[in-house]
Amino acid sequence: MNPTLQETVPEKVLPQVNSEELDSSKDNSTHEFGFLDSFAKKEIRRTLFKAVSIPGYQVPYSSREMPIARGFGTGGLQITLSLLGQEDVLKVIDQGSDESVNAVNIRNFISKTCPGVSLTKHTPEATIIQTRHRIPEFPLKLGQILVLQVPYPDPLVIVENSEAKRKQMHGEGDYARLWVKLYEDMVQFSEITISHRYPTRINGHYVIDPSPIPRFDVPKLHQVPGLYLFGAGREKKIYAVPPFTDAQPLTFDDVPFRVEDFKDANGNRRPCNRCGSTDSYLDEFLDEEGCRVYQCSDSDYCNSMLNK
Ligand SMILES: [Zn+2]
Repeated sequence: MNPTLQETVPEKVLPQVNSEELDSSKDNSTHEFGFLDSFAKKEIRRTLFKAVSIPGYQVPYSSREMPIARGFGTGGLQITLSLLGQEDVLKVIDQGSDESVNAVNIRNFISKTCPGVSLTKHTPEATIIQTRHRIPEFPLKLGQILVLQVPYPDPLVIVENSEAKRKQMHGEGDYARLWVKLYEDMVQFSEITISHRYPTRINGHYVIDPSPIPRFDVPKLHQVPGLYLFGAGREKKIYAVPPFTDAQPLTFDDVPFRVEDFKDANGNRRPCNRCGSTDSYLDEFLDEEGCRVYQCSDSDYCNSMLNK
């Protein structure tokens, strides 16, 4: 009969695990402010400078391991943690809502690791807003930063597998194959069918994937006073749309870019079921009786319109 591991290895050779060391909740005082170490923050800030200097260019960086899985917003989280100071006011949303699981957990994590940072749910009060899948309805002001969590940073990935070739295509501004993809949509469906991640040309050169925001939000990138930062943690890329920069969705001269219009069968714009707003992006769902209900996706905007 073979001996067991415990019998063959002397006890003192086996690692002794101190259970108190495993309990990280006991003492946070040894952690750096903002979770990341200062070298990581410096590198991310330098990457951000480059991203702002070359609007739309995907700058590589060494994405750090975070205490959430890649694909759950690690890129956006690393940008936010590198920028936050104690004077900042932070808002975190997911699909427009402050109360969804992803938003609540990221907000809790940041409040634990950044003591002193104020939290808000009201867009105009925030200095940094971290978001997934939506741009808030209140327009960004000068001095505000919107950080988007990005799953796939490169719009060319749908037409070219090789990253080296994609880099060359970006460098040369060669988006011919992307245009062909849009044209094929026109031929097949009589309109461009991309609903999210609509390819958008920044400052007349680089085309970006603006993350899975709806078409409705794409015009909010164009010539606004606020700064947009995009972080893709799994793909290790950061890019930016600086204030007052052109952001044009790719389309043909004779096919104007169209956003979701939320019109009913009679051609009237549906209002939000809760606040009555007719200019916000609406979520569609079924109520308890199985009837279709339309409601603002931006919970802060909906509350503000309700209290007007
Ligand atoms: Zn509403």
